[in-house]
Order: sequence, then C-alpha cells, then structure tokens
Amino acid sequence: MQKHVIVVGAGIVGVATALWLQRGGAQVTLVDRDGPAAGASAGNAGLLAAAAVLPNSEPGLIWRAPFMAVSRDAPLFLRWSYLPFMARWLLEFARQCNPRDTARIAQALAPLVLDSFDQHRALAQGTGAERHLHPCDYLYAYADHAALKASEPGWEMRGAHGVSCELLDGPALAEYDPLLARFACAMRMGGHGRISDPRAYVLDLAGYFEGQGGRILRVEATGVARDGARVTGLRVGAETHDCDDLVICAGAWSNPLLRDLGLRVPLETERGYHLELWGASAMPRAPTMVAAGQFVATPMAGRLRLAGIVELGGLRAGPSRAPRDFLRRSLKRCFPDIQYDRQTEWMGHRPSTPDSLPVIGAVPGLTGAWVGVGHQHVGLTAGPVTGRWLAQMVLGQRPNTDMAAYAPGRFG
Ligand SMILES: Cc1cc2nc3c(=O)[nH]c(=O)nc-3n(C[C@H](O)[C@H](O)[C@H](O)COP(=O)(O)OP(=O)(O)OC[C@H]3O[C@@H](n4cnc5c(N)ncnc54)[C@H](O)[C@@H]3O)c2cc1C
Repeated sequence: MQKHVIVVGAGIVGVATALWLQRGGAQVTLVDRDGPAAGASAGNAGLLAAAAVLPNSEPGLIWRAPFMAVSRDAPLFLRWSYLPFMARWLLEFARQCNPRDTARIAQALAPLVLDSFDQHRALAQGTGAERHLHPCDYLYAYADHAALKASEPGWEMRGAHGVSCELLDGPALAEYDPLLARFACAMRMGGHGRISDPRAYVLDLAGYFEGQGGRILRVEATGVARDGARVTGLRVGAETHDCDDLVICAGAWSNPLLRDLGLRVPLETERGYHLELWGASAMPRAPTMVAAGQFVATPMAGRLRLAGIVELGGLRAGPSRAPRDFLRRSLKRCFPDIQYDRQTEWMGHRPSTPDSLPVIGAVPGLTGAWVGVGHQHVGLTAGPVTGRWLAQMVLGQRPNTDMAAYAPGRFG
C-alpha cells in the first residue's frame, strides 16, 4: 500500500525530502505556513560549499569570540538580552572548540557536503530547476598574508578530506579576477557550485513536486497526533491531518514540534544577513568568501549578493542595524568600484546545533516520526543528500552512510 508522508517545512531540506519520497513511490503532503522557500533557503549565499567540512566551533574561537562580539569590525554580533536564553547551546558549543571534536565533526560533515553539486544535479534533474545550477570555483580571499597563515589548520583539514586548492598570490589573483585586486591573496578551490537564484530554485523544485501529484498545504503545524508510540498525524490547530509517517524539516522553528515528539535538541538560530546589489556593474568570477568579513559575494541572476555574518539573538527580534552597517562598510572597503542601481536587504535564520551537525533520522521511541533539521551554514549544500537519506529511511531502506553522527537522540 502507498505510504502517506507529511513533511513539515518547505525549505531546501523539506522540499528535497518530499521530492525523493515522491520519486520513491510515497504519497506526500508538504506543509509550510508561508509556502515554499519562505525561510533561510531563499536568502542564503547560493554556494554549494563542497569544501565546508570545518565546524563552526573551530579551536580557539571561544577565546576570540568575546573580542569579536564587542568589535564593530568583526562578523559576530550579539543581542545581549537573548544570551541567557541560549546558555545551554553556548556551553555545548564551547565544549566542541578543540582539535579532537573538530576532526570528529569534519569527518561527519564530509558526506553531507563533498558531492553537493552532483546531489543537486540528481535532485533537480527533469524538474526545470536545473537552470539555476552552475558549476564554479570557490575562493577564500584574504586581506593580508598573516590572515592566510592563521587559517592554515583549516586548509590542512580540508586537504585531509580531499579538497584541493591553489594559492593565488598578488598578481595571479588580479589576473584571475581583477575585481579581487585589493586582496593580498586567495585560495581557489575547484569543483564547487552556485545557485543563481536560491528562492526560484526551491520554488521550481516545489512546483515540479506539485505537478507530479504532491500536495502543498499553506498552514502552520501546531503539534503531533499519536496513538501510543506511533505517530498518526499532524495537528494544525483543531484539525488533524492523518499520515503514516511525519518528517519535521521546519528549520530554525522546529523546536516546538520536536518537543511534542519528546525530543530535546539544543537548536538555535544563527541569524544571517544579505545585501543585494541589483544591476551591479561588475561581478566576481566565482563566489568569493571575504575571510575577514565572513560573508560570500556570489554572482546571481540580475544582482550580486553579499551574504553571511552571524548574529546570536533568537527568532523573535527583527533585523538589527549593526550587521547591516557592517556589510555596507565591507562592500565599500572590498569592492569600492562596483556601481549598482539599487540595494535590497534580508535577514534569515540558520538552524544550528552546538556541534555543527544536523539532526537526521528517526525519533527514538516513536514509530513514524523523523527529523531533518539543524543544517547551520551548509543547508543549501546538504539539503539534497539529507532529503535522499530521509526518504530512504522512511521507505525502509538504509542510506549508504553511517548515520550515527546525526542521531536525533544524541543530545539526551
Ligand atoms: C545569510 C545566510 C547565508 C547562507 N549561505 C549558505 C550557502 O551559501 N550555502 C549553504 O549551503 N547554506 C547557506 N546558508 C544556510 C542555509 O540557508 C540553511 O542551512 C538552509 O536554508 C536551511 O534549510 P531548511 O530547509 O532547514 O530551513 P528553512 O529554509 O528555514 O525552511 C524552514 C521552513 O519551515 C517552515 N516552518 C517553520 N515552522 C513551521 C510550522 N510550525 N508549520 C509550517 N511550516 C513551518 C518555514 O516557513 C520555512 O519555510 C546560509 C544561511 C544564511 C542565513
């Protein structure tokens, strides 16, 4: 008999899961209170970050973070009044800032990111969304050689996972891309990808899913219906939508639904920002991470998008002034010659766990309950493979990967 699966959340993770489930023969309903691509999946930097094996909790960060948080020229911002609410997350995060955990986490991030472009190609094939996918290099640009030197351990770790890179120094960098002539040097990595309009990409995938008989409901999920240890449906206010299996992919907003499933995950938002320059007079040749600013400048359809920054401040507060001003100042400093017609701004929520690893798999102790959340800075990159794994598990198959590192029950 055909399974009916409800997937909550129509960002890249939920849409990829729904599509792979549909291809596997399930009848699928995708639920999102605001429709597809309403969250982080729309406003990100559009980079398929195959080299992103480093956790956010790099060794030594815990000592630098307080200085970064009080500097207006560092890409970390805090809403101080929110900090007590994320104390558990911060403590857990601090515990991971050591070489041993960094190596362990990198090992688990590798299968999520390394073949990202191929995973996207497989997901998008035949959907019409392929038109947004482009193979490209990815550059890390440094203002000076001291900054490059300080980042050497990261390059060694990437290298250990098979990421190859080439140093473009001074004139070689200017020759590769004259727009980057102000930087002292850059590391160039091949084998990456970019999405030229992340929102349109997710919308195209969702449109295809609907065209193939999938159902999209624009409602807010409020809870889970159970019969003993079996999930039987999704609650939407007073109504219940019956299903055989329920998959929660509600990004940074997943906590209430996870709690209803009896699952405690220290999930926080790492707020991020983008600034778009429409009609930009010049674009970088490849997505470029401005290392000092921790934002990526990505050429996109009709505009250049600068996206990144971390602000810790919860889900409720609106966008803050300081991160946006930081991005504007960085733009003037790094790309002063770019002219443009107009700017637009955006703020969004990365769903992040303190160990930089998503939660993917079955909810312990329940039948028919699944989770795919917490993809932090690499959710666009890792969404398709997560969706593939989740669909395999829901349909009774075993992913060809050791899923232990992503276990939903690992936080106790
Ligand atoms: C500034 C910035 C730059 C980034 N750059 C990159 C990048 O270049 N590459 C990369 O790989 N990643 C990047 N990321 C991270 C990436 O965007 C996220 O990890 C990813 O989009 C998360 O996808 P998701 O599907 O889990 O969540 P989301 O896209 O946030 O989707 C969650 C969905 O759930 C819905 N929802 C929530 N609660 C409910 C409910 N109760 N009922 C119904 N619906 C609900 C929401 O409406 C939303 O549509 C970036 C993030 C930011 C903020």
